Amino acid sequence: ETVFLNGEFVKRKHAKVDIEDRGYQFGDGIYEVIRVYGGDVFTMNEHMERLYQSAEKMKLKIPFDLQELTSIVFKLIEANEVNEGIVYMQVSRGISPRQHHFPGEDVSGSVIAYTKEIPRPLKEMQEGVTATLVEDIRWLRCDIKSLNLLGNILAKEEASSKGHFEAIQHRGETVTEGSSSNAFIVKDGTVFTHPATNLILNGITRRVIKDMADKNGVPFVEQIFTVDELLSADEIFIASTTSEVMPVIKVNDVTIGQGMPGPVTTKLQEWFTASIKSECKI
Ligand code: PLP
Repeated sequence: ETVFLNGEFVKRKHAKVDIEDRGYQFGDGIYEVIRVYGGDVFTMNEHMERLYQSAEKMKLKIPFDLQELTSIVFKLIEANEVNEGIVYMQVSRGISPRQHHFPGEDVSGSVIAYTKEIPRPLKEMQEGVTATLVEDIRWLRCDIKSLNLLGNILAKEEASSKGHFEAIQHRGETVTEGSSSNAFIVKDGTVFTHPATNLILNGITRRVIKDMADKNGVPFVEQIFTVDELLSADEIFIASTTSEVMPVIKVNDVTIGQGMPGPVTTKLQEWFTASIKSECKI
């Protein structure tokens, strides 16, 4: 298995991280997860663009330009013969003696990337999954795809320890997003999702879904909705790079709609698959 580490392609067992890497010590860095279908990348430009935007928001300099990073992604997919999987890419603020303030200009960011085979979650997409509600205790810059994921991890663990697929987070009455996904409801044929503010990550999957809804005449509204509105929705789904369009059929003990994937969610799944097929060989 070949991985990328600071300018070199090496075997995974030779890829070691310094104990004073700021990503390791502080979570001081950013990342992206890009989907691979049939050996082809999906929405790669959008992911790359978001990586540079996250970097800018963190005042972090990525020591490679877009073209270089793009070619690293292609090389890794080829070297590891990835068919259905992901490319994980991470940039930290580099290695320097532990201190909170930024290191000097001479310290270059650490860049790592690797691939992993991950099948599409077809069974879950067909049957739907369950979720639990968790108070959103994260910081106020959830728009940055930061390595610091403690809030997300605690939320996901609460869900998973109770046998749920995802934690749907809420700040007080307002539903924000999942622990590793965006959250959507359907009410009377209209799709609602939290606006792309500092309180959520503006998912690439979310953007593809918005595009498909717009193209197919499904009303799509970026407007906050409450926990009560979530629980009384006709349909709920979550969305992410790895989960795609994932129906949520139950939240805690509350059955949503008919307790099966709803018609709007199912249509969005079909359009999403068509969108994958337009970019990748599946
Ligand atoms: N929100 C959070 C907190 C996430 O971690 C993710 C992805 O992992 C998403 C939303 C969905 O983003 P994307 O569709 O770009 O994968």
